[in-house]
Amino acid sequence: MTTVLAVANQKGGVAKTTTVASLGAALVARGRRVLVVDLDPQACLTFSLGHNPDRLDRSVYDVLTGDTPAAEVLLDTADGMRLLPATIDLAGADAVLLLRPGREFGLKRALAPLRDAYDVILLDCPPSLGIMTLNGLTAADAVLVPLQCETLAHRGVGQLLRTVSEVQQITNPELSLLGALPTLFDSRTTHARDVLADVSDRYSLPVLAPPIPRTVRFAEASASGATVLSGRTNRGAEAYRGLADNLVGFWAGERELLTL
Ligand code: ADP
Ligand code: MG
Repeated sequence: MTTVLAVANQKGGVAKTTTVASLGAALVARGRRVLVVDLDPQACLTFSLGHNPDRLDRSVYDVLTGDTPAAEVLLDTADGMRLLPATIDLAGADAVLLLRPGREFGLKRALAPLRDAYDVILLDCPPSLGIMTLNGLTAADAVLVPLQCETLAHRGVGQLLRTVSEVQQITNPELSLLGALPTLFDSRTTHARDVLADVSDRYSLPVLAPPIPRTVRFAEASASGATVLSGRTNRGAEAYRGLADNLVGFWAGERELLTL
């Protein structure tokens, strides 16, 4: 059974892209066949996995706006996952798709022939609730919301959850809300824990374990073209391995999701 997981939050800088890349690499290390999809015109996922978006002839843009099969656009990565890359063209996709019927369903249709070849497909959504994020949520079985543990982290969460609920009612009744993932977590402050408890109460949203600690290794990794999983042992990589184990056990029906 394939699981398509959208990683979404319309706030930028909350570690959506880092989570897709690092969780993807951790799942590969657990023997899973993983596809990651870059839905952000900034193409940070594509770049951080070692491909220069400016040099690509084709991307997810051609898949969503034309009739290029996704299978023809896939790239290999150093961490062993396959990548459906983005290019800056994607910035114009909303306008191209605006007048098309079924514009939210393009990604779901494009991924359908690929599903069987992967155990997990991770979708890196852009920092907006536009058509690319709607395509991601419509194609997904579940959504994970990275949340930076700082004051006002909850601003925008209500709006995101409303969008998820609308998608569940209109384009994807099967979509489940997995929960929030605490990112850039500083365990030395009680403040971070208070923020999480507040968000979790306010929106009755499960908060997944383990939290992802703040470490400089992530910035170093994204410049290197591979994820933090491929470098020396570090707390960030350990946390994403823990998250991968948590999800693998849950998806296999072996146990409940571990939450904080
Ligand atoms: P988003 O996709 O939500 O905009 P990114 O994944 O691009 O967020 O992360 C934003 C910035 O934060 C990047 O520079 C990334 O390297 C850094 N970052 C992400 N996770 C961590 C972490 N756990 N510790 C330190 N820096 C991080
Ligand atoms: Mg991003």
